[in-house]
Amino acid sequence: MTTAPSTTHAASQPARRTYVEATDVASAVAAMSAGARPVAGGTDLVVGARHGKAPLPESLVGIHRIGELASLGRLPSGGLRIGALVTHATLAENGDVLASCTGLADASAIVGSHATRANGTLGGNVMNASPAMDTGAPLLCHGAVAVLVGPGGERRVPLTDLWTGPGRTSAGADELLVAVELEPVADRSGSAYVRLQYRRQMEIAVVGCGAVVRVDEAGIVTDARVAISALSPVIERVREAEAALVGSDGATAIEAAAAAVAAASRPISDVRASADYRRAMAQVMGRRAVLTALRRASGESIAVPASDTTFGS
Ligand SMILES: Cc1cc2nc3c(=O)[nH]c(=O)nc-3n(C[C@H](O)[C@H](O)[C@H](O)COP(=O)(O)OP(=O)(O)OC[C@H]3O[C@@H](n4cnc5c(N)ncnc54)[C@H](O)[C@@H]3O)c2cc1C
Repeated sequence: MTTAPSTTHAASQPARRTYVEATDVASAVAAMSAGARPVAGGTDLVVGARHGKAPLPESLVGIHRIGELASLGRLPSGGLRIGALVTHATLAENGDVLASCTGLADASAIVGSHATRANGTLGGNVMNASPAMDTGAPLLCHGAVAVLVGPGGERRVPLTDLWTGPGRTSAGADELLVAVELEPVADRSGSAYVRLQYRRQMEIAVVGCGAVVRVDEAGIVTDARVAISALSPVIERVREAEAALVGSDGATAIEAAAAAVAAASRPISDVRASADYRRAMAQVMGRRAVLTALRRASGESIAVPASDTTFGS
């Protein structure tokens, strides 16, 4: 672990800040146990502080040099294990992700700008726990589990149990996310993530929806996962939409699934959209996500990101 000199912040905030850099998981966890907050790409933590969202923590540990957190590969189960430091730029282009978790690539490909995607990590996106984060819906659809390491060792937490509210997780302050593990994806599956955005770049989801579907040889849906973003306090699955799809030929159930997405939404009104508008758009995004996932499951090649290539932005 290397230690940078303490720095004094702006005159209005005279607190002395410490910054250390960890080169392995153990030293990062040790620093966190002593009160340091991890910083990966800094695109939430540092940029947010500069924009006055929340002051920068007094003690930080840089984790970007921990090489083992940047790996992306297959588990023995066939599912993907994505290291916490894997960037959105990598996720949007990686062959394994594009082949089996296309919806995750759809999501990472529309995060911020080129600079945001080059620096922003999956781990930071997950641990920031924004209800409008883009990778959350695809991760939930793939049954993702967070692998956390703390002073007591490793534990695995399904993302459904990790996110407890806007900006909140069940992880301890001394627990480092090391990876996210996804379930294996069966043949004849397709996935997609789409969002409503007002601009092509530097925008967060006004409404987002992810879907993963599997069809059999006759085109009947045998498995379906649907999750919503920016429509509830945490990213969550919509079981009613999934139930509407399973056993159908897909096409005839799209409207019922989209209506279920809207019905499950509990959106807020803010400067970007009213709750009523978000609920109306939830139905549209639900329809688009399910339709794109079904088309991909049937073998159609639809370029990433689906938000742009299929529907315009
Ligand atoms: C201009 C701009 C545009 C953006 N657009 C989008 C967008 O379209 N969609 C979207 O979803 N997000 C967007 N973001 C948010 C941000 O880029 C993403 O959430 C990104 O993935 C954060 O990753 P990071 O590595 O930069 O996180 P950091 O800022 O380093 O960390 C974020 C939080 O996670 C914690 N953390 C980081 N890594 C770990 C770890 N391994 N273990 C435990 N805690 C950890 C940090 O302590 C901090 O609380 C945007 C940000 C900016 C500045």
